[in-house]
Formats: sequence, structure tokens, C-alpha cells
Amino acid sequence: MPVLKTMFSIQETQNSKLSSVDWENLAFGKVFSDHMFEMDFENGSWKTGKIVPFGPISMHPAMSAIHYGQSIFEGLKAYRFVNDQVVIFRPEMNAARFVNSANRMCMPPVPEDIFVEAIRKLVELDKNWVSGKEGYSLYIRPFLFATDPLVGIKPAETYKFMIITSPVGMYYSEPVKVKIEEYYARASKGGVGRVKAAGNYGASLYPAKQCQIQGYHQLVWTDAIEHKYIEESGTMNIVFQIGGKLISPTEESDTILRGITKRSVFELAQSWGVEVEERKVSVEEIVQAARSSTLEDAFGVGTAATLAQIAIIGYRDEQSHLPPLETRILSNKLKNHLSGIKTGIVDDTFGWCFKI
Ligand SMILES: *Cc1c(COP(=O)(O)O)cnc(C)c1O
Repeated sequence: MPVLKTMFSIQETQNSKLSSVDWENLAFGKVFSDHMFEMDFENGSWKTGKIVPFGPISMHPAMSAIHYGQSIFEGLKAYRFVNDQVVIFRPEMNAARFVNSANRMCMPPVPEDIFVEAIRKLVELDKNWVSGKEGYSLYIRPFLFATDPLVGIKPAETYKFMIITSPVGMYYSEPVKVKIEEYYARASKGGVGRVKAAGNYGASLYPAKQCQIQGYHQLVWTDAIEHKYIEESGTMNIVFQIGGKLISPTEESDTILRGITKRSVFELAQSWGVEVEERKVSVEEIVQAARSSTLEDAFGVGTAATLAQIAIIGYRDEQSHLPPLETRILSNKLKNHLSGIKTGIVDDTFGWCFKI
């Protein structure tokens, strides 16, 4: 990638809010750093991007994203190495996925080099918001939405691309209880499950709420047609361990989001000689394995929590308890190694950390 001269205008804040942050009690996604990035698409092209003090934006009441949902997003994180270097984890992967999401939703893709450079510049300006405390990071939220001021169903002609960032601590504190969902669906064949389209998440709230009423943290989504195959868990990809092998639903269908964390976990495991399999994973296979205690491990993988081990899998009226965390050698090692790479304790042999 050619080194870009920063082509953005920058207006720095005159009153940083950094000193007012309560670092001990950070709720996920509630506190935002001092600056944000904005870039408009008009008359068929992207205008000059700008970094401005964080704050509200004004919008037209007919703004098309609100009415018809042309809205996509990304999620990634910046970390502070023990030597103070600030890095961003694999941003070029998010840039590429954002292009796919935009194309699927008839939106103008943000050029990948501009996407990465906008994040780099924003994080550089707000680098003091990247905490080096254990488990902490700066969550980065790029998003793109249609801004046409008219009520009419068609691809919009104007769009806004923005990036905001939010300091975050540990995501899940305890191992999660999940329930295999046999009625509701997150995504269907031919739909938009593969991309990070805003509406996917709005639609998942009701089913998630139902399972939370039953005492679970999250759902395990199954295929929309027969509910026989496992797809994802909540907003994370899902990985199982049976017979020492890591197994995860194949991403060939267009119902599963292609997670960067899962890709990284698999690349790492493979580099250690662990066998990985991406294929259809049936509910039957997992429930049987859990019953017979051959299910060694199950965990969700995603940027927010990185790796969230599953304690209990609920299926109909039955609950299976997974082995105690201390016995889950492989997932513990993957989790620690990944966090070591992101904090500069472990050599980044894959070149995953992008230095700002
Ligand atoms: C974002 C997301 C993931 C995880 O992707 P990462 O790139 O690892 O953060 C998995 N599933 C869904 C539905 C998602 O939205």
C-alpha cells in the first residue's frame, strides 16, 4: 500500500475530555474519545475527509438510512504495546469487508487505503485514549449511511462515512451461557447475513431478549430453513473443539459473517499444528458431543470480546455443562497468545499489528 500523505483536514478539540474518564467503570461503547472522522459522498465522488471534535451531527428527518436502512458498520480495536507503541489489529481486513458490505447494500465503497489512513490518523490524534491497562483497548467504529433527504426507496445518491472511537475494558467477565435457537433466524440464504448491515442487529434483539429472559446470555443461531445447522453465536463466530480439532461452520453460505478474529484464531492454531475444520456443523453433532462429554470446548470469537468461552449450551429443555475452564488448554492458550500479540509481549510473526 503506498504511503498516503494525510489528505484530511483536522480541527483539534480545545477541551479534551480525557481527564474526566472513569477508567475503572467503563461501560462498553458509552464513552467516546475527543475526535471523530467524517467524509461525505456527493455527485458521484468522495469529498475531502475531515477530523473534527466529537459531537452530534445534524440530519434531515427524511434521511434515507433511517427509513430504509442503507447503513453498514465495522468494528476493530487499537491496542497499546507494553513499550507504548499503539497498534491497530488487522485494519486492512476490515477495510476489505467494508467494501463487500457497501457493495451488497448498493452503497459507494470507501477506498481501502482511505479507510485505513482515516483510522490511523484518528487513532494517532487520540492515542492517549488507548489504555495500556490489561484487557483495555480503543474500540473503533467506522460506519457508512445514506443521507438523501427524501422518502423514496432506491439506492441513495449521498452518503456519510464516519469513524468514532470508544475506550473499552474487558467485555465479558464470566463464561457465557448460550441457547440453541430453533425458531428465530438471524440470516437467510440470499440475504445480508454475510455483511455488517445495521438492520441485522436490530432484527436480532427480540430473539436475544427472549433467550435472556430464560437466563441465557446469547443465542446460537441455526440455519433459517431447517434449524439443523449451527451458524454463529450472538454477534460472534462460533468454534467447537472435539478430539483436539477446532471445528467451525463454513462461511461459504451467505448467512455467516466472515470474522477476522476467527480467521486469526484459525491461522494461529494451524501454525501450532492444530487441525482446523470449516464445514457444516449440525446441532445434532454438537448436542451429542456435549451429552457424551466429547465436546472439549466451545467459544465465541469476535473483536469485542476476542474469545468468549461457553459454559453452558442449552438445547430445548436440556442444558449441557462444558468442561471447567482450566482444562481448556487450547482456547486459553489461543486467548493468551492473541492478547500477547496485541500487547507486544509475543512476537507478531504474522504481521497483524499495524503501527500508527
Ligand atoms: C462482527 C461480527 C463477527 C465477528 O467479526 P470480527 O471481525 O471477528 O469482529 C461475527 N459475527 C457477526 C454477526 C458479526 O457482526
